[in-house]
Amino acid sequence: MSPFTEKYNIHTHSFYCGHGSGTISDYFREGLRQGLETLGFSEHCPFPDGFLSRSRMDYGMRTSYESDVRSLKGGAMTVALGYECDYFPKYKAYFEDLRGSVDYLITGTHFIIRPDGSRVSPFSDRLTQDDLLRYRDQLLAALDTGLFDCIAHPDLYMAGYSDWDETAQGIAREIISAAVSRDLPLEVNANGLLKPRPFGRVPYPYGPFFDLVHELGAPVFLSTDAHKVANLVRNRDVIEDFARSRRLRLLRPSFPDGQLCWTASEGTWRGEGETLTACGVAERQ
Ligand SMILES: [Zn+2]
Ligand SMILES: [Zn+2]
Repeated sequence: MSPFTEKYNIHTHSFYCGHGSGTISDYFREGLRQGLETLGFSEHCPFPDGFLSRSRMDYGMRTSYESDVRSLKGGAMTVALGYECDYFPKYKAYFEDLRGSVDYLITGTHFIIRPDGSRVSPFSDRLTQDDLLRYRDQLLAALDTGLFDCIAHPDLYMAGYSDWDETAQGIAREIISAAVSRDLPLEVNANGLLKPRPFGRVPYPYGPFFDLVHELGAPVFLSTDAHKVANLVRNRDVIEDFARSRRLRLLRPSFPDGQLCWTASEGTWRGEGETLTACGVAERQ
């Protein structure tokens, strides 16, 4: 058994995304084997018109994906259905509809759209300062919709940007502050530990970003972002240490009425004056 104590993973992919492997049932069995209490599936959200389809499942497979996950409900481990979504305003009505049919939605910005319509990605491109500002704008536009329950790899831009300069720090503060004001947890994502290191460091999670998360008091959650079964809990102990050593406010997900609620993990809640609402988010007295 792995030594991690936060027994959930709600950022999980499968063969459905086109760049992962393993069936939904394979992950379910592995989740049980690892002692998870909650397992959420968050396939990359397909667009009805095929936008970004090279990096996600075909829209036509939505029904199959959703019914695969739904068929696992009712076991010893809570299973939840979600998506990880790049948000663009022209699809707002689609996302509103989608939110009504699943248990949760994660937002994450994987593609930055430049003014000429071209797109770059922190995974594969060197980003300019202007790209960082666009990354911020796209992510904040997603948060403004109120449709998303948490934020995947908020520090992903540091995978494509070398320096922790004024621009990088400035947008970190804006993203983290937006998360604080909306009580939306920020993800500490273990998948970055497995990625190439173009700047000679782990691309994400990026330590200085999460030092700011601590300073500003934003809540966080932990994910492996697994794209194959063997990685379902890989490095969970490492990122749990990463979060605890920074005294981050750890939240954990639950699905009491089939919808995602966040509750504080023991021993990590900051401040005497904070209590939890029935559904878990912070309520300052
Ligand atoms: Zn992602
Ligand atoms: Zn992911």
